[in-house]
Order: sequence, then C-alpha cells, then structure tokens
Amino acid sequence: MAQAKKIRKRITIHANKCIGCRACELACAAFHAKPRYSSINPARSRIQIIKDPLKDIYLPVYAGEYTATECTSRNKYILDGKEYSNCDFCRASCPSRDLFKEPDSGLALKCDMCEDTPPLKLPKCVEWCPKGALIYEEVEEHVQEQASPLGAIEIGVESMIEKYGLQKVLETVAKLARP
Ligand code: SF4
Ligand code: SF4
Repeated sequence: MAQAKKIRKRITIHANKCIGCRACELACAAFHAKPRYSSINPARSRIQIIKDPLKDIYLPVYAGEYTATECTSRNKYILDGKEYSNCDFCRASCPSRDLFKEPDSGLALKCDMCEDTPPLKLPKCVEWCPKGALIYEEVEEHVQEQASPLGAIEIGVESMIEKYGLQKVLETVAKLARP
C-alpha cells in the first residue's frame, strides 16, 4: 500500500498536572454548541476528566472511535499506587457507558481537534487548561494511504442504526426527504 506524508495533530496529556477543574470540558462543550458558544453542557464535551479525588485520580481522556461492541473483559491498572480500570483510559464511545455520547440523540462524539476555518492556533481544551496539562503539537508522519476511511456521516449513521435499528432510520430519512 502507498505511503503518504501527513501532518498529525497531537495532544500530549500530562495527567500528573491535571487538577480536575474541568475548564477543558466547558471550553470544548461551548465551542461545539450549535450555534457556537450558545450553551455549555459538559456532557457534550469531547474530552472528559475521569475523576476520583479520594484516590487523587484526575485523568483527561479524549473521545475516539465509536464501537458497537463492548469489551468482554475488564483489566485493572496500578500506576504509582493508584488503581485504574481499563475503561478509565478508553477513548471509545461504546454501549457499556454514557461517556462520549451526545445527550439528546445518543450519537457518538469524537474529538475533531477543533477543526475550523481559519484554523485555530490551539484547540480550545488546550487553550483553556490553566495548568499546562495538555500540550498541542503538529508532527509529520508517514502513513499508509487508506482507500476510503469512514467519514463523520457514516460513523453517525452507523451509531443511529445501532441505537434505533435500520428500519427506523430508513423511515426517518424517507420522511425528512419528502418535499
Ligand atoms: S481538541 Fe477540541 S474537539 Fe478535541 S477535546 Fe479538545 S476542545 Fe474538544
Ligand atoms: S483544564 Fe487542565 S487541569 Fe483542568 S481538568 Fe482539564 S486538563 Fe485538568
């Protein structure tokens, strides 16, 4: 398969600097509200802080891919004496939890790195983090060219079909398409 050069946007998470203030969640939710900045609902944020103050756990996690199937097992991680489940680190929008789902429609949420025109200097979560726990970089990578990666519409339709069934989705599309 052919190789291509790609600029990859990357956010490095310094979890030990995070204080769990959730400014990143609010900034993301406001930026992605429709119309922009019209509401702030952290449930719509594409970054979530896994938080357990009694165990001194503050872990920023970014929304990644949608998956229709949940894991069949659960692992535990012990890091610096703190216990995490593997779900704590997981970026998936999956059936076993409410994380990374649009609260009204149930559609999967995914971090889009705040793509905008013109481009932002920094993603909103990075800009608003008061502790420098999120560091943004652009790195050049060699990647395999994919024939046709799933786009946002396909991912959205796939999760709607999973939630409501194919027949219901087809009926709704037909109803909306009527003049
Ligand atoms: S990069 Fe943008 S879309 Fe992604 S979590 Fe941060 S604010 Fe949200
Ligand atoms: S804004 Fe920074 S310090 Fe606050 S919760 Fe988010 S990552 Fe942690």
